[in-house]
Amino acid sequence: MRKPFIVANWKMHKNVEQSVAFLHKVLDRLPNSDHVDIGIAPQSFATYPMIEITQHTNLQIISQNAATKYDGAYTGEISVKDLKDMGINYVMLGHSERRRFFHESNQIVNQKVLAAANIGVTPIVCTNEDEESIVVNNKRYYILRQLHNVLQGLSIEQLQKVILSFEPTSSIGEGHEMNLQLAERGCQLLRQQIRLFYGNDVANKIRILYGGSVNPDNIAQVMDQPDVDGVLIGRASLDPEKFVQMANYQNNYALALQN
Ligand code: PEP
Repeated sequence: MRKPFIVANWKMHKNVEQSVAFLHKVLDRLPNSDHVDIGIAPQSFATYPMIEITQHTNLQIISQNAATKYDGAYTGEISVKDLKDMGINYVMLGHSERRRFFHESNQIVNQKVLAAANIGVTPIVCTNEDEESIVVNNKRYYILRQLHNVLQGLSIEQLQKVILSFEPTSSIGEGHEMNLQLAERGCQLLRQQIRLFYGNDVANKIRILYGGSVNPDNIAQVMDQPDVDGVLIGRASLDPEKFVQMANYQNNYALALQN
């Protein structure tokens, strides 16, 4: 049984004061970590105060990015080694916005994934569609070339711990909606490829998240899909009330079924 993972991606939103205030609003309303993992990826400067506040809680503080190198003359970069020393266990890598605005190639993402995995920080590896490979509702989506390139060089043991995400750019951000069929199909294809190339054990263990216009109204539906093990949430995660509702989707769903 794969443990669900709910990840908030705050992107370039919230200063330190707002990030800390958010934590104080939500911390005692989050579910027990035996049933679900919950994480927030804030701006880099907010990770430290947030780590301090969440030390004895179930909430994971996640880095939105990290460098390919552990240290050296790389102005403006973030060392995954130092993130680890600070108590960070997860780093998001290869988000479509990193690829689009900062020209991160599969090769760069792969180097970052290896740097993180080799030092014991779990990469949350994002993939998004390109226009050549899968067909859903008469549209083509290509996700698999990225997948194989970014995972190159990982051992089977490392692969089992990696977290993948499928985030179709057609569903991310303002003006877009979640397409449930595409969400499951994308995650299913990722798992099928993992099964084909790395075997049943890895495919059954690896967690695959869906990202794109998830909100309190559709989270239970998408989490109900067989190949979706979690979600990456942008906009809706910035609101503390919505975040608490989504983190508690299991309880809310059970209550709705009872009524
Ligand atoms: C994202 O960019 O990772 C994302 C999922 O954004 P949103 O939820 O706002 O569509």
